[in-house]
Amino acid sequence: MKCFLISGVITFLLAAMPSGHSAESRRGDIQILISPSEIHQGDAVFVKVICSHPLKSIQGRFKGKDLIFFRGKGGLPFFSLLGVDLDQPPGKEELCLHITGEGGEVIERRFAFAVIKRDFPVQRLTLPPEMVTLSAENLSRVRKERTVVQTLFASITKRRQWERGFVMPVDGAVLSPFGVRRILNGEPRSPHTGVDLKAEMGTPVHATSSGTVALVGDHFFAGKSVYIDHGMGIVSMYFHLSSVLVKEGERVHMGQVIGLVGQSGRATGPHLHWGIRIQGSRVDPLTLVRLFPR
Ligand SMILES: [Zn+2]
Repeated sequence: MKCFLISGVITFLLAAMPSGHSAESRRGDIQILISPSEIHQGDAVFVKVICSHPLKSIQGRFKGKDLIFFRGKGGLPFFSLLGVDLDQPPGKEELCLHITGEGGEVIERRFAFAVIKRDFPVQRLTLPPEMVTLSAENLSRVRKERTVVQTLFASITKRRQWERGFVMPVDGAVLSPFGVRRILNGEPRSPHTGVDLKAEMGTPVHATSSGTVALVGDHFFAGKSVYIDHGMGIVSMYFHLSSVLVKEGERVHMGQVIGLVGQSGRATGPHLHWGIRIQGSRVDPLTLVRLFPR
């Protein structure tokens, strides 16, 4: 397979990269770019493959999971998104790509990078004991709700539904960052897998990108909640709402109001808990938004 990189084409393609900071690997006629250039635990990562002649398809693997690629404008660059889970140990990682040319020839490319340790802060919270130590009834409810959500995560669609990147659902400051190691009433608990955004009761909550409402819940911890399937294994979730304005199965577009901020479920005050999973990996939603600067 031969192809020649024309500087004008490359300049244009680089301009289309979601972030100005990226790492790159170029061998022969194929160029792989990943963004951000330094990858930390809990990061969303954008992968771009460029070749100056048409490719048929790309299959990728990362941490035993399939990477889903889609074609960019003009059919030349291919893109994918992957998530580095917040608990993924730091160290060397590798993407493995099988790139199929128009003639059916397959080239294997590997892209090595390091996952850097992120220092997650520690937060100590004091809550009423009945909210921390669950009754048998509540424990049973939480287990059932967890099963519903795990089933949902396993059924997120592959076909891309998101368009034009991802935006903030509300315009509020971060009250509690992603990945915080929580200590409730003196006992260590599971880490914070989303970001808490400051917002008044009743503030409209916007869909981060287009997709399909996969689940509307009213759960013990999350309260009134909405889960949106964006395709490519990406799901966004919005917790503690005071009201939900969409229905399961409904198509939503980026920026559409899907509910109102509240403090339903286990919340100490009105705010929006916003979470993102990419193929099951728990990532910091802010790192996903940063990949698509506006
Ligand atoms: Zn939260």
